[in-house]
Amino acid sequence: MKLLMMQKALGPLQTNAIVIYDEDSKQAIAIDPSFQPEPLIEWAEQEGATISQIWITHGHPDHTGGVPALLRALSNSPQILISQEAYEMTQRQGKAFYGLALEPFPEPSRFIEHGDKLGFSGVDEEDFIAEVRFAPGHAPGSVVFYVPETGMAVVGDVIFLEGIGRWDFEGGDLALLRKSIREQVFTLPDETVLLPGHGPATSVAWEKAHNPYMQ
Ligand SMILES: [Zn+2]
Repeated sequence: MKLLMMQKALGPLQTNAIVIYDEDSKQAIAIDPSFQPEPLIEWAEQEGATISQIWITHGHPDHTGGVPALLRALSNSPQILISQEAYEMTQRQGKAFYGLALEPFPEPSRFIEHGDKLGFSGVDEEDFIAEVRFAPGHAPGSVVFYVPETGMAVVGDVIFLEGIGRWDFEGGDLALLRKSIREQVFTLPDETVLLPGHGPATSVAWEKAHNPYMQ
């Protein structure tokens, strides 16, 4: 296995879609396809990659809205992994978002849980790629995907470069968000690169020292 991780900013809020890619098997996992996932589809076609799974960090439409379009464009049927609370949030969404039609989020393949070890075959200890860490506070059922082999973590809207996620949306809670960051992000190795849902990458060490919300 030769793992790479890439990010592409998509849609009206420039949400970072993340791809975990195994160059050996050409299997790919798309995390948070946002709106307008066409660049992901073009990348997969050019690369000859198979997007075999879609993982979701949390249920906000700028992270989930592109899932139906991505599914339609792919000839295989990727597994869809999301926490139960995040899925429930998608079921309460409106019909439009930033002027774009919001299609119903599809039925997931399974609900992910804190501590799950995920691989290209789904939950599998043997081809382990990512550990699921629950990190609520920005949205109910928010998760972080930690990928030890690449030294990276996909953190959704939990933490940003010198910022944290908004806590004024449905189910948001500032104290809980700070607790999640302390216990689920700052416990990762200091050198871990954090890939947030918006904006540039950062690291655990940088945010411990410089994040104004966490001092
Ligand atoms: Zn969000």
